[in-house]
Order: sequence, then C-alpha cells, then structure tokens
Amino acid sequence: MRLNLLLPSVEPDVYQEPKVCPYSGCGGKHFHLRQEVRKPIRDTVLHEVVARRYDCLRCGRTFRVYPEGVNEDQTSARLKGLAVMFYILGLSYGAVALVLLALGSALSKTAVYDAVQAAGERVAGLRREDVHLSLVQGVIAALGVDLTTVKCKGKAVSVGVSVDAAAGTVLSVDILHSAETETLSAWVHEVAQAVGAEVLVSDDADSFKTVADENGLEHQVCKAHVLRSTQAWVEEIQPKLASDTDGSLQAIGVTPAQALADCNELLRLIRERQPGPQAEAKLQEIHLRYIQAPSPRELHQDQATLAYRLRLFSLDRWNLWHSLTLYRRWRGSDGTLLDGTNNACERAIGWWIKERYRSMRGYKRIPSILNVSRLIVWAGNQLRNGADLASIIA
Ligand SMILES: [Zn+2]
Repeated sequence: MRLNLLLPSVEPDVYQEPKVCPYSGCGGKHFHLRQEVRKPIRDTVLHEVVARRYDCLRCGRTFRVYPEGVNEDQTSARLKGLAVMFYILGLSYGAVALVLLALGSALSKTAVYDAVQAAGERVAGLRREDVHLSLVQGVIAALGVDLTTVKCKGKAVSVGVSVDAAAGTVLSVDILHSAETETLSAWVHEVAQAVGAEVLVSDDADSFKTVADENGLEHQVCKAHVLRSTQAWVEEIQPKLASDTDGSLQAIGVTPAQALADCNELLRLIRERQPGPQAEAKLQEIHLRYIQAPSPRELHQDQATLAYRLRLFSLDRWNLWHSLTLYRRWRGSDGTLLDGTNNACERAIGWWIKERYRSMRGYKRIPSILNVSRLIVWAGNQLRNGADLASIIA
C-alpha cells in the first residue's frame, strides 16, 4: 500500500497580509509595516527568512507576520512535515531524528514526537462523534466494523475501526472501553445512525450478529473469515471422524464415511456460497443427521463428542448462511454493492493501525494511540490525490 504524502512548502516571498489585529479584543483592521527582521529557522533548504513587523493602528501594539510555511516556531512546516512523513512511513521517533541529523536538518527526538502528535491532533474527523460532520458523500449504506488491540504501557487497549465498506474509506478510529457486545452496539449505533447505514459488515464474531440485530441492520459476515474458520474446523476434526475416536458417530448410527462426506459438503457450500433453497436444505439435512447427538451435560462429561460438535457446527453454519450470502442478494438504496468481505477494515487495521512494518511499536499514553492511528489512517484515506501534510502541520 503506497502512501501518497505531500510535503508542506516554504515560500519565503509569500506573505499573508494581516486582516485583523491578532490581539484579542482589539479588532483593528489597519496596520503599518514598521520593519523587516531576519528570522533564523530550521528548515531543509533555508537558514533564515524575513519576518515583517506591523504596528496595529488601533491598539498600537506590534506583531509579526511570517512567510508561508513559517510561524513563530523555530522549525519550518517543511521540516516538521518531513519528520511526520518519515514517521508515517514507518520510522520510530528516534530513527526520524537520526535520519534528519544525517540529512543536515537536525531535529531532536522530542521535537519529532511533538510534531507527530500535533499533526495527529489536527487530523479532522475520524472520531465517532464527528462522523456525521466529515461526510461529503451523504449516505454510507454499508458500514464495515472491526476491533483490534494495541499495546499501551504493556496493556491491551481495544480500538474500534469503522469504514465505508464499499468505498474502503475509514470513517472512524476510536478507543473502546471494552469488547463487550453492549459497548460495540452503542458504538455501531452512533456511527450507523450518522451515516444512514443499512447493512453491517463484520467478521464472524457472534457479538457483531447481535449488534446488527439490535441496530436493525442487515448483516454481512465476511466470507473470507467464515471460509477460513470452516476450513480450520474441518481439518482439525476430519482425522478424528475417520476413526470415530469416541464412538459417538456409531452411537447415533452415522458412519465415519458419512461424517467425512458431510464435512466436505459443508466446506463446499461455504466455498460456493450459492444462495437459495438448495443450499439451505442441504445444511438442514446435515444438521438433522446429528440432531440426536447428546450434549456433554446430558452425558455428564466435560467434552463435547464428535457427533455433538458436528451437530453444533452444522447448525452454526446454517445460522450464518443468511448473512454469509447477503452480498449476493443485497443492493443498497443508493446502489451500493458488497463484495462479501470486510477487507476495507482489515486493510486499515493491518496497514495503518497495527503498523506491522514499524520497528518500534507500543504506546505510552492513550491519546498517542489515537493521534498516531488517525494520522496514518488519514494519510491512507488519501492515496489517490495525496495527503497534504501542510493542512495538519501548524
Ligand atoms: Zn490591535
């Protein structure tokens, strides 16, 4: 995933004419250019610029105006932008400082940290409470959501990510206080309401099924997740079924060959995902073959038998069927189509939040998680036209 980052520039000859006196309460609109003074700066190209000193004709106080890309700070927006760029591209704070020193534009590790955090704070939107404000396209019919965890002082913190599942754009990145269904439901409710979502796209965690139901949303469960979990389940159980290790198949009159065939059939159905009565009838048929298998409780034992596991698993796939195949039937009221995956969420988490490429990971404070995640997600949302760093660098 190649990020497209635009570096702020410094224009030493471009000044904004003052429009209103910067001192609060004055409101003066007329000024006298008193003198031009040299200002040394840290920058990748320039060593100094010229600052203009104005007198306010109303209150008599003086103030400075700097050329574009420079402010009262010693460091230009271009150098801060370069530090933020290196950080977004995967260097640690210390590594950014090292590279800048090598390039002849030294910036301390602390200054790099401050620049990155400040840029993250200035990222607009990407907060659950701001989702409705940052929308330009109106309704987002398909809302994709996922959870991840990041480390903060060694502790796991839950981060909730929501996306426009069809367009792939990230809508929000927030800390969630828990991964409990109640917390997830309130979060999804807030974002879904704000964007006018009609369908929820998620992985196959049971909690998201409940969340979709509670919020009156259709549910698309990620087809890739379901296929992977089905494959893993079948691979694990098939050798045991082949020899009916606990005799539970024999007890309900099913041959190992039949059980293996049922596993393969489940796998085929999940792989093909053909909506319609045939597949559902088949799932029902498989489930009913194991309906007599007693539960561990009925057997007074801890472990589920092979036959009982097949009974539960076939029921679970049958229950999932509707949301697994929704994407084949569903079309949003605005014409949105789904691909049946939750890839947009996974991409955002994998590339922009988990940051598997960065040498130093882990956070020391909660706001830093949000600043950094939102900063990189913000850049990731603008692959096509480029993320203009000048807009988030003070
Ligand atoms: Zn004034």
